[in-house]
Amino acid sequence: MHGDQAADVCVIGAGFTGISSALHLVERGYNVRVVEANKVGWGASGRNGGQLIGGIAGEKNVARHHGRDVEEIFGSLRWEGHDIIRQRVDRYGIECDLKYGYLDVAIKPRHMRDMEADYERLEKAGFPYEFRILSRQETRDAIGTDAYIGALLNMGNGHLHPLNLCIGEAKAAVSLGATIYEQSPVMRIEKGSKAKVITDHGTVTADAVIIAGNAYHVLEREIRGIMFPVNSFIVATEPLSPEVVAEINPHDVAICDPNFVLQYYRLSADKRLLFGTRLNYFGDDPNVITRRHRRKIRRLYPRLADIRIDYAWGGTIGVPLNRVPQLGRISPNVFYCQGYSGHGVNVTHLAGRIMADAVAGTLEQFDLFAGVKPVVVPGAFVLSKPMVALGVMYYKIRDRL
Ligand SMILES: Cc1cc2nc3c(=O)[nH]c(=O)nc-3n(C[C@H](O)[C@H](O)[C@H](O)COP(=O)(O)OP(=O)(O)OC[C@H]3O[C@@H](n4cnc5c(N)ncnc54)[C@H](O)[C@@H]3O)c2cc1C
Repeated sequence: MHGDQAADVCVIGAGFTGISSALHLVERGYNVRVVEANKVGWGASGRNGGQLIGGIAGEKNVARHHGRDVEEIFGSLRWEGHDIIRQRVDRYGIECDLKYGYLDVAIKPRHMRDMEADYERLEKAGFPYEFRILSRQETRDAIGTDAYIGALLNMGNGHLHPLNLCIGEAKAAVSLGATIYEQSPVMRIEKGSKAKVITDHGTVTADAVIIAGNAYHVLEREIRGIMFPVNSFIVATEPLSPEVVAEINPHDVAICDPNFVLQYYRLSADKRLLFGTRLNYFGDDPNVITRRHRRKIRRLYPRLADIRIDYAWGGTIGVPLNRVPQLGRISPNVFYCQGYSGHGVNVTHLAGRIMADAVAGTLEQFDLFAGVKPVVVPGAFVLSKPMVALGVMYYKIRDRL
C-alpha cells in the first residue's frame, strides 16, 4: 500500500476473519480496504486442516455468563458459518474441493457418551443432514483402522481446501469493489472519530476498523495477551494408490479425535493423506514434524509406515483460556475478532457476518460475545511459549486418563 487512502471500513488481516468480514461488508455496499502484512491466507486460514467442523468453542461459558440456555443463544449459529461457505462457493464459483462427511471418532467409553449426547442434541434441533452413531466395526469399515471404539458420522460437516476458499472469497470481495493490499504490515492505529491505519508506506483513514490478525497479531497488546498462540502441524503424504484409498477412507470423510492434543486427518483432492496434530515444537526444521507425525500415522495405519511425506508445515491458532471467541472493541470504532480454538473455518465465517452487523450498528450478537470478559493470565504475552508447552503437556496427560 502506498499513499493515503480513505474507506468506510479498513480491515487488518486477510485471513478468513478479515476476508469474510470484508466480503459481507462489500456485499452490503461498504467501501472496504483490507491491509495484510503478508499475502491473502498466509496465516492459519491458508495453513489449516480444512476440517469444516460445526459448533462454537466455549459456548457454555457464553450461556453461563448471560444466564441463558445454550440452545436458546446458539441454536442455528453453530452451523451458520457452514451455510455462508456453501452459499459463497455456489454464488462465486469458488473451487475449494468442498465435500461433506465428517467422523468424530471415540477412543474411550467417555468419548462415546459425549457423542451420544451430541447425537441427541442434533436430533432435538432437527439437524437437517444425515447423522448417526457408528459401531466399532462400522468405524473400522469406514476408515480402515482399529484405533477407535465408535464414531459419530455427520454429513453436515465436511472438509475443503482452505487456502483456495480464502483466495476465492478475496477475489469475490475484490470483484465487488474491495481493495486488498498485500505485503503491507500495519504498524499503528491512530484512534479517533475517524481511525487511521498506518503502514510504512501509506495510511487508510476509515470510519471503522476491524482487527483480524488473530494469533499473528502483535499490534495492540491489550488483545494479544488475552489468548494463547498454540501451534498445530500438518504433513501431506505422497498421493495414495486407489487401493489404499479404498481401504482407509473410501467415502472421503474428514476425521477428528476428541483429545485436546487432537489428531485430525483427511484426504486431499489428489488423495494425499493430510494428517495434523499439535506438538510442543517451536523450531523451523520440518523434518522434526515429519518424523513425529510419521510415528502417529504408523500407529493408525501400519501399512503406511514407509509412506513418503512430501510436505510439512505449521501454523498458529488463537486459543482463549475460556475458549470463547473474542469479539470486542478497543475504541468506539476499532473492533477486533479473534480466538476460535481450532473451530475457525466455520466460526470465522459466522464472525465475519457478526462483525459486518456490528459495523452497521446491529450489535445484539456482537454483544453476546463482547460481554464475556476474557480470562487473563498475567505475563501471558511475554511467556506464552513456555506456558503453552506446559499446557500441552498437561492436556496430553489428561487425554490419556
Ligand atoms: C495447522 C492448523 C490447523 C487448523 N485446522 C483447522 C481445521 O481443520 N478446522 C478449523 O475449523 N480450524 C482449524 N484451524 C484454525 C483456523 O485455521 C483459524 O481459526 C482461522 O483460520 C483463523 O482465521 P483468522 O483470519 O482469524 O486468522 P489468520 O488466518 O491467522 O489471519 C490473520 C492474518 O492477519 C495478518 N496480520 C497480523 N498482523 C497484521 C498486521 N499488523 N498488519 C497486517 N496484517 C496482519 C496475518 O499476516 C494473517 O494473514 C487450524 C489452524 C492451524 C494453524
